This record gives sequence, C-alpha cells and structure tokens, in this order.
Amino acid sequence: MATGNINVTAENIFPIIKKFLYSDHEIFLRELISNATDATLKLKHLSTLGEVKGDIGAPRLEVIVDKDKKQIRIIDQGIGMTGEEVEKYINQVAFSGAEEFVEKYKDKVPDSGIIGHFGLGFYSAFMVAEKVEIYTKSFKDDSQAVRWECDGSPEYTLEDTDRTAHGTEIVLHIAEESEEFLEDGKIGGLLTKYNKFMPIPIKFGTKEVDDLDHTPKTTKDKDGKETTEPQKKITVDNIINNPNPAWTKQPSELEEEDYKSFYRELYPMQFEEPLFNIHLNVDYPFNLTGILYFPKISKNIDPQKDKIQLYQNQVFVTDNVEGIVPDFLQMLRGVIDSPDIPLNVSRSYLQADGAVKKISSYITRKVADKLVSLFKNDRKAFEEKWKDIKIIIEYGMLSEDKFFDKANKFALYPAVGGAHYIWDELIEKIKDNQTDKDGKTVILYASDANAQHSFIQDAKEKGYEVLLLDSPIISHLIQKLETSKENISFVRVDGDHIDNLINKDDTKISKLSEDEQASLKTVLEANIPKETYTIQLEPMDSNANPFIITQPEFMRRMKEMQASGGGGMMGMGNFPDMYNLVVNTNNELVGEILNTKTAKKQERLIKQTFDLAKLSQNLLHGEELTNFIKRSYELIK
Ligand code: ADP
Ligand code: MG
Repeated sequence: MATGNINVTAENIFPIIKKFLYSDHEIFLRELISNATDATLKLKHLSTLGEVKGDIGAPRLEVIVDKDKKQIRIIDQGIGMTGEEVEKYINQVAFSGAEEFVEKYKDKVPDSGIIGHFGLGFYSAFMVAEKVEIYTKSFKDDSQAVRWECDGSPEYTLEDTDRTAHGTEIVLHIAEESEEFLEDGKIGGLLTKYNKFMPIPIKFGTKEVDDLDHTPKTTKDKDGKETTEPQKKITVDNIINNPNPAWTKQPSELEEEDYKSFYRELYPMQFEEPLFNIHLNVDYPFNLTGILYFPKISKNIDPQKDKIQLYQNQVFVTDNVEGIVPDFLQMLRGVIDSPDIPLNVSRSYLQADGAVKKISSYITRKVADKLVSLFKNDRKAFEEKWKDIKIIIEYGMLSEDKFFDKANKFALYPAVGGAHYIWDELIEKIKDNQTDKDGKTVILYASDANAQHSFIQDAKEKGYEVLLLDSPIISHLIQKLETSKENISFVRVDGDHIDNLINKDDTKISKLSEDEQASLKTVLEANIPKETYTIQLEPMDSNANPFIITQPEFMRRMKEMQASGGGGMMGMGNFPDMYNLVVNTNNELVGEILNTKTAKKQERLIKQTFDLAKLSQNLLHGEELTNFIKRSYELIK
C-alpha cells in the first residue's frame, strides 16, 4: 500500500470546488458517467482494432444508490486503469485540471456546462462526497486491480485489491449536506437530464414490465360473469438512455415518423406535433449533427420551456444556446451536438469565436434551404403553415441580412381574400396598377380585415390588391423592405383616402370655390378637436363618404415600432394618437354644412357627421357615444 500527496498546493482545492460550484453540484454525476462512457468507448475502439483479447460483449454502465450505506456507485466495464495510470491520470492529470479550473474561477460562478472541459471532471465528485474510492482493473493482460481512496485532503491511498473483471467502479461516500443525492428520484432525474442519449446503455435499478409471453386468460363463472386474470409482470433492468438517438443517424435512415417520435422523446410533456424538421449534418470545417424542429408558434408559447438542447458527443451540456444558434431561431426546438463548440469561455467570447460564427451561419443557411425546398415541393402546404412560422421568418429577415436575401424565395405576403405571393410575384402583380405618379409602386396592406373593411373595399373597387399583414413586428419588417427594395413603399389602407394613398395625379375638381373651402375649414376647425385631428379637404367622388378618419402611415408605424420595441425608438417618449379628418368637398352633405345658416344647426350637422366617421373607425366610446345616440333619436323625431 502506498500513500502520497496529490500536490503541495492542494490544501484549499476541495473547499473551493465545493464552494464555488454550489449551484452546479449535480454535474458530478454527468462527469463520472462521461468518464465511464469514455472508458467503455475506448475499450470498444481497441477491440475493433484487435487489441483486446476475447469478446467484450455488450458493455454497459450501472449506477447504484445505496441509501443505507450513503453511497453512490458508478460502475463501468471499460478499459480500467493500472496503478500507474491511476497515479498519472487521477493524481496528476485530473488534479491539475481541477487546479486550473479553481485558479480561473476563484471569484466567479462559472457557466454551467463547462466543468468537464477543464478536466475537472473526476474531482467534481468531491462536491458531494466526503470520501471517494476507485476500484479499477485494466483490460491489459495480467494487470493488478487497484483501490484508490481520498477523503478530500491532499493525501490519497493506493493499494492492490482483488477485482477480477476489467473496468472501474467509483464509490462516492456522500457527505451529510449532500444527502439529497441519495434519493432514487433525484438521481433518476439527473440521469434523464444529462444522460438520456449517451452512447452506452446505463442501468439504474430495475423496473416491472408486462410479460410479453403471457396473455391473461379470461374465464366465465356459472353466471356467465367474465373475469380476466392479472397480467403477469417481469422484472427487467431499467435502462435509462437511448444510446442511438435519431440525430446520430443519417437522414436516409429516418422516416418522417422517426423524427416525430424523437421529438416526443425529447419533449415528453409537449403534445403539439412539430410542423417540420431540419436535419443538420456536417463534418467540415466543423463537426455538427442535430435535428431542429419548427414548433407551432402560438401566443401562449413559453420560450423558456422545451428549448434547443446542446450536446457534446451525446452528453447534455446546456439548453442555453445563445450565441451558437442565431437569435431568431431560438424559438425552434431540437438538438445540436457538436464537440467543436468551446464551452470554457464566456458567452461574449463565444459570439466572437470564428468557429461558432460559422456554426451559426451554417444553421441559418440550412434553415433557409429547408424553407426553400418546402415552398418548392408543396407550396399549398407551405402556405397553410405560414401563419404558424411567419414570426420566426420575419424576425430572421429583420435580424440576419443573409436570411433576408434568401427569404425572397419563400417569405409569403398574404392578401385579403387568400392569395399568397412571394416578393417578385407581388410586385409583378401590382406594378402596373399600383404605381403612382412618381414611379413608386405602392403596396397596400391592412392589419385587420374587419376593422379596416371600408378602406379595403375602396381599394378593391380600384382593382388594387391589399395585403393582410398582422404580425407584431410587421412595421419593422416593412421599414426594412422599404429601405432595401427599390422604388416601393408600403401604406396601410386606412392611412389616407385611397386616391391619396396611390396618387396618380388625375386632378380632381372641387365643387367648392377657394373662398368656400376656406370658410368650410374655419367652421370645421371650430368644432373638431385640433390636438388630435388635422383637417384635410379633398375633392373626391361625390359618392364617397363626407368625412373619413385616417391615421397617417408614418406616425402610426412609429408608434407600433415603439410598442414592439427596438428600432431605436426607445426613449423618444410616447407618440400621441394623431388622425387626419379627410373631408370630401364634393359630397352633398359637406355642401349643406357649409350653407347652413344657423350656427347651432351647423354645429349639430358637423358633430353628427364626425361621430359617424368615428363610429366607422370604432373610435366612438363612452359619453361621446351616449350623446351621439341621443342626438340621432332627436334628429329622426
Ligand atoms: P477528462 O475526462 O477530461 O480526461 P477527468 O478528470 O474526468 O478528465 O478524468 C481524468 C482521467 O482519469 C481521464 O482522462 C481518464 O484517463 C481517467 N479516468 C477517469 N475515470 C475513468 C474510468 N471510469 N475508467 C478509466 N479511466 C478513467
Ligand atoms: Mg472526464
């Protein structure tokens, strides 16, 4: 038996490990299972190279929780270690990894998921254990099994032991303050969180399942009453992981249903099916596999739940993929597995890292390609999905220029009435009829087909196409389209009278003289609140309504952009509600208003007409509405 000192500077390493990793104590299990998995994969590899004698069978791991003895044991059938290897890999290499980690994180709490990458892996056991033992035997011929023990002081013990099979057993003597880890439920939960897709089967206890060889018999008694005997159960090993998850397979090996069932495996509490998936698979210039899913985006989606999970070689690392997956795709679900993502760095460094940038743009490209092919292969189905995916796509168009360019091929612009256009189709469709006198093609849109019904009607009468754009971020996207596409502008149908929205300059003649117009303006201004309404006289068709309330495009859009955030609108104060009152000087009623001699009667006419205009825009409420109703009854009396 030998004793030794791990390292002279070791005095304070264990307290620091315990203290600074407080929030992450649970990762000890992931680290030890990763080591056991590595050891098993190494053995498998050596075996395929013919360097291991005999058949290694189907090695697996086992985790045992012994509440009475206050122990957790992690057992593998991997390559094991010789005494010398323990000295080297545990006492020196693993330890110096731990030391480096502590050095770096003395004063701060690290990101979760990085510990293993410091080679701190093994020593994380001391976060929960007051004493750790290793029983191990190398796969090499005639090697002597050894037992290592360390109680968290710099001293360790190494001695021969009589284990016969190759492999390693780690015994954790759980410290009093960590006894929560002696609950089966706790360990079971951790195993599913971190190890659900690890490549070597992991046994954790046993479970009862139906005996498939037994079909319960049904018998009838003398009264004809049927009784069925109970189903026979058998006890089997409880294997907690799926060692061959879908993303490790080739797309050609998988059917649609396999992708769906993997989705259910990933998110067992998620009952809504995904809309479609994207299989990621690249090995140069970086290594990355994964499957992303487009979920149905509904109002009550919780972005904190069921996020994209990041794995490294099938070990769960984190579900915070910020910096790795572009922002606009963070609402997707699924798995990304890449050994090439550096994790022992801060998030801001990660975003600047060249390899990570490449990964992020690869993901964007793959998503765009998939959308192109979905659009091409089944346009109708794509159109049907549009409302469920548009938020993500529109957000992507706003935030990533490359994606914006690609989106030309699949981003849809739906119209009132059901047509869906991609950009070029839209412009082709409207450019003849909707180009104004300055050569600008004007894209008309509505945000609410019901509320803006009369305006849509006016546009339709002119043969114009009206889009229906109702996403919360649409005003930002419109702004972006206007600045990146040439000679187009967007206006909402209720932004002005239709002839002003698309000004084709066929000059209209007013029935009122200049003087009459001036005095009309004066009486109107006396009766319409000017803080909110700007009066605008227009010679329109005599059949068009006398008063029309519109909301100027610019003000309204700024307001919306402010409400949905971003766009540099913050801190500009609140935009007030501002409207235009478009007065049709060719409408008979307007002439009557002007010619009414009694001031009282004139005021009543103006109020009534104005209220009707407000009513049509759903702007008449409360006391105003009550007064309007009263006045209306009086008028018809
Ligand atoms: P890392 O896994 O990053 O190398 P660890 O601290 O987790 O760092 O482990 C240190 C080393 O100890 C491993 O590289 C390996 O050589 C050895 N080791 C740890 N656990 C086992 C095991 N179960 N079987 C064989 N070797 C192991
Ligand atoms: Mg390790």
